[in-house]
Amino acid sequence: MQAAAEEAGAEAVHSVRLQVGELAGVVPDSLRFCFELACGGTLLEGAQLITEAVTARARCAPCASEWAVGMPPELCCPNCGAATAELLSGRELQVLSVHWEDGRCRAAEPDREPIVEEH
Ligand SMILES: [Zn+2]
Repeated sequence: MQAAAEEAGAEAVHSVRLQVGELAGVVPDSLRFCFELACGGTLLEGAQLITEAVTARARCAPCASEWAVGMPPELCCPNCGAATAELLSGRELQVLSVHWEDGRCRAAEPDREPIVEEH
């Protein structure tokens, strides 16, 4: 992420949007803590971590019904009782987008002093 931000000429990363599946085994609060630790001293320092929870869903192969798996995960089909559920979603742990500050973003933030860029 840092390399991509540098390539784009960014000076600071504003926020990172992360998709977190219900079954990814990640606690959002501890994720935020690790994120802050990992980002200290980099372009990402001070960036806001936005987590987007993804509901775990499964599909039953024999009867094609779909259901929200929930927590703890219910992997037997509520319709026919088959235990051959196929997990459709819920294991996601991926970066959806990274927003960094460039001249435009900075100008749009009223609580910051405008910075004159030297060229
Ligand atoms: Zn079924």
